[in-house]
Amino acid sequence: MSLQWDPKWEEVVIDVEGIRVKALQDRITKLIACPICGVGDRASYFFSPRDLINHLFAHTSRAQRIQVVAPTTEPEEEEEEE
Ligand SMILES: [Zn+2]
Repeated sequence: MSLQWDPKWEEVVIDVEGIRVKALQDRITKLIACPICGVGDRASYFFSPRDLINHLFAHTSRAQRIQVVAPTTEPEEEEEEE
C-alpha cells in the first residue's frame, strides 16, 4: 500500500467547557485519539474535541453498567489485650 498514515502524536490537553482531557493528537491531520481506546487496533479518532468528549461519555455510561460486587466481609474479631 502506497498511502499510509504515519501519525506524529503529540500530547495535548483538550478543553471543552471546563472538561479537560489529556489526549494524543496527530500533528499533521489534527486527529485526536481517544485516551481510553488508545492508538492501537481499537483506536477511535476525532476531528472535533466535542466529539471526543461525547465519546468519553459513552465510555463512562458503559462503565456504569459494570456491577461491582463487594465481597461479604465478616466482622473482624477484636483481639483482646491482656
Ligand atoms: Zn474511546
